Amino acid sequence: MTLPEGLSAFDLTGRIALVTGSTRGLGRTIAEGLAAAGATVVVHGRTRDAAEVAAGQITAATGRTAHAAAFDVTSTLEVDGGIERIEQELGRIDVLVNNAGIQRRARIDEFADEDWDALVQTNLTAVFALSRRVSRAMIARGSGKIIQIGSVQSRLARPSIAAYSATKGAIVMFTRGLCADLGPHGIQANVIAPGYFETALTRALVSDETFSAWVRGRTPAGRWGDPRDLVGAAVFLASAAADFVNGQTLYVDGGMTAVV
Ligand code: NDP
Repeated sequence: MTLPEGLSAFDLTGRIALVTGSTRGLGRTIAEGLAAAGATVVVHGRTRDAAEVAAGQITAATGRTAHAAAFDVTSTLEVDGGIERIEQELGRIDVLVNNAGIQRRARIDEFADEDWDALVQTNLTAVFALSRRVSRAMIARGSGKIIQIGSVQSRLARPSIAAYSATKGAIVMFTRGLCADLGPHGIQANVIAPGYFETALTRALVSDETFSAWVRGRTPAGRWGDPRDLVGAAVFLASAAADFVNGQTLYVDGGMTAVV
């Protein structure tokens, strides 16, 4: 293989990618990164207006047409209907990035039922429902990529987020299960596990100087992650370059999980 042929394996031209929760935050940057690598992306959130605004910005930035989709990932009915509409409109989904996620914080003795339920629904059950739905057409075609967004909490615990950690740990094993079921059908499922990144989800932590200093000190890179730090991993796992990579978890965390 010559070098140019090797690099072309990363080209996403002709691939259709749905990134859930891409109206803002990590998903927004991942969607733009996939578009910059050639993919036709579907920007997604609960509200169509927000998805259309982000899709317009991605089209303007990359020159690639980005589409918008709106449905609540916590409703299996909405997931099935939403995927059906995208498949009808665009023909297929080659890449699913399960990024939509939420956080709820409280010490375990004070953790509310509704917060547990919301975390499990959004961070885990939705990943199941979306993966199940897109896998049907992927199996029929004999190809596809499913990428989950985990977390350093897929492996490491912190006070007040036991429930979030449970969901992020579970998707690692769920993804290995997808590998077992779908690998024989030419489909790869992997997890990107980000460290601490500045987004709406972590705004309170970023503005807490004590916590922010702890993140910088605990991370060998000495800084918070920039959402653009995730693009290389996402493009790789979405591309033919990762056709023999399956069931894996790639930590993009500035080295945090490698050290104590
Ligand atoms: P944000 O809060 O910035 O964005 C979350 C996105 O998810 C929004 O686009 C939101 O869309 C969407 N979303 C949330 N709930 C639903 C729902 N029920 N149905 C459809 N869309 C939904 O989060 P981040 O970008 O920070 O996080 C993205 C992912 O990365 C999450 O899975 C998170 O756990 C993970 N992560 C984040 C880290 C960080 O440091 N920020 C670190 C490690 C992992 P809308 O509100 O428009 O509907």
